[in-house]
Amino acid sequence: MASWRHDFKRLTPPKNKAILERCAVCGAEEFIPYVCRYCGHVHCVYHRLPENHECPNISQARAPRQPVHLERRQGGTTLRLIRSPRISLMPGREILALSIAWVVLGVSFSMRYMYQPSWWSQPIALFEVFLLTLLIIGTSFLGHELAHKFTAQRYGAWAEFKLWTVGAIMSLVFSVVSQGAFIFAAPGAVYIASRSSYIGDVMDRKTNGIISLVGPVINVAAATISAVIYFGLLAAGVGVKIYGFDPLTQSILINLWLGAFNMIPFFILDGQKVLTWNRAVWAVVTIPLWTATAVAIVLLR
Ligand SMILES: [Zn+2]
Ligand SMILES: [Zn+2]
Ligand SMILES: [Zn+2]
Repeated sequence: MASWRHDFKRLTPPKNKAILERCAVCGAEEFIPYVCRYCGHVHCVYHRLPENHECPNISQARAPRQPVHLERRQGGTTLRLIRSPRISLMPGREILALSIAWVVLGVSFSMRYMYQPSWWSQPIALFEVFLLTLLIIGTSFLGHELAHKFTAQRYGAWAEFKLWTVGAIMSLVFSVVSQGAFIFAAPGAVYIASRSSYIGDVMDRKTNGIISLVGPVINVAAATISAVIYFGLLAAGVGVKIYGFDPLTQSILINLWLGAFNMIPFFILDGQKVLTWNRAVWAVVTIPLWTATAVAIVLLR
């Protein structure tokens, strides 16, 4: 999408801080605002493209042709035209943010092994445990965040995962200080803005609450599936352990913790938006979830 770039004027930053311009979609104060050459509105870096701010004059902005490439089907003689996937569905900066958050959580959740001297005598085992932890977080954390994103998109909202630097640092610092006992599990968040109109259109509380709830619900589902497999194997007398590391119990613990932590009704955490929408829904999900998490930590850790 680099070919779009020349379409947008970059203004010099205003000297006076009081006249910072605001994005017409999300209201973010922009030090370097982008003015759309088709509608004249000011936007932030995320909403600068006509398709990202429901530009009323989008028809004037001639969309570049989607790149098309030929692909030879395996073993076949037929050539098919295949449209390249739309890059804008998952911009590179979002993949980078998700990857950084993923590794931050991987290190944080592996911290307790790094505090055990026995693990350092077998560095390859420690590395394998770290990779397994990354794998588990890959499903639990990415599942959680992508559930937010895709649900928001289904409601017609613009949604993108962004790194929350303070949260990522807190995740690492808390895990070091607590020797891996406490994980601050919010290194980023999916940011949502309604596409349906300009300033003033705030998504309603119910929509926001549902978008927030699906993340923890994914973790509850993944923990439940892991628990079913775990107890099934236990009943069959089969144990899955790699150097004493049990991926299934870790999947139960990590998923429950990600869900339980994010249901705390505080600041940008999911629990806050669910509570604002409906206290009963929050309580029905959170109280059993916190109980299950406490029980799992006592029994499985
Ligand atoms: Zn914006
Ligand atoms: Zn525009
Ligand atoms: Zn969440």
